Amino acid sequence: MDAPLSPGLYIVATPIGNLGDISLRAITTLRGVAAVACEDTRVTGKLLHHLEIKQRLIRYDDHASEATRDHILALAGEKPVALVSDAGTPLISDPGFKLVRAARERGIAVTSLPGPSAAIMALTLAGLPSDRFLFAGFLPSKDKARREALRGLAAINATLVLYETAPRLTDALAAIGEELPAREIAVARELTKRFEECRTGSAAELIAHYTAAPPKGEIALVIAPPGAGPAVEHDVDALLLAALATEKASQAAAAVSRATGLDRKVLYARALELK
Ligand code: SAM
Repeated sequence: MDAPLSPGLYIVATPIGNLGDISLRAITTLRGVAAVACEDTRVTGKLLHHLEIKQRLIRYDDHASEATRDHILALAGEKPVALVSDAGTPLISDPGFKLVRAARERGIAVTSLPGPSAAIMALTLAGLPSDRFLFAGFLPSKDKARREALRGLAAINATLVLYETAPRLTDALAAIGEELPAREIAVARELTKRFEECRTGSAAELIAHYTAAPPKGEIALVIAPPGAGPAVEHDVDALLLAALATEKASQAAAAVSRATGLDRKVLYARALELK
């Protein structure tokens, strides 16, 4: 039997794909609260079903009425109440800010159970400076507004982390390539899931790749800070020649593709020329 939780608002991070990433504390908290406020009761219902937890769910997002917020906060003043989003850490491009602010104003205890967030995971994978970073959420979907937003980020002396959708990826990369030229970019896709990848390159290289192989799934972008030098230029011939010393052209191309993120078919053609 877990120790009873004290009243208050518990911000609980949930997995961004791999259900194994739920923490032990998240499980005991979701089991021990009086209710779970969530973005979508079906999504959270599925997670709780997987965890074999039965809970009272209250639909909540930052557009919810004052009455809904009051109801959740009145409950949290007397009992433990969790807030989760569909995936990852609540408040990170997800609802919760208004609820946490109002809870603090009313003197209600607020605590947070850290866990998965695509932004942090992408930053840890990209191989770009991680000492200073700015998370800027989603770029606007319209080209003019997107470019304005990028111009506002151009002078910031930090690695940038953004969220993007698969259908908009190549348009976003084109705008990034023009407004933030000569930056190395990482496309972190389907993190923690079966087809997880983190592909780095210049905007042009990534556009070429994702035009040939349109991406699916969820995407976070990581962009090098200004002045960090141009996108990594791989000495492709040297890498291929080294691999060809021990492997067939197809295997060499596959190995260099994995290492550089460059297109395997292009590398295979070059490997045949070099042989
Ligand atoms: N609160 C979440 C978090 O902490 O990561 C983010 C919620 S936001 C509404 C959803 C966006 O996060 C997706 O469109 C995508 O840009 C990014 N994202 C979420 N899961 C992801 C994953 N598994 N791989 C890559 N990006 C992901």
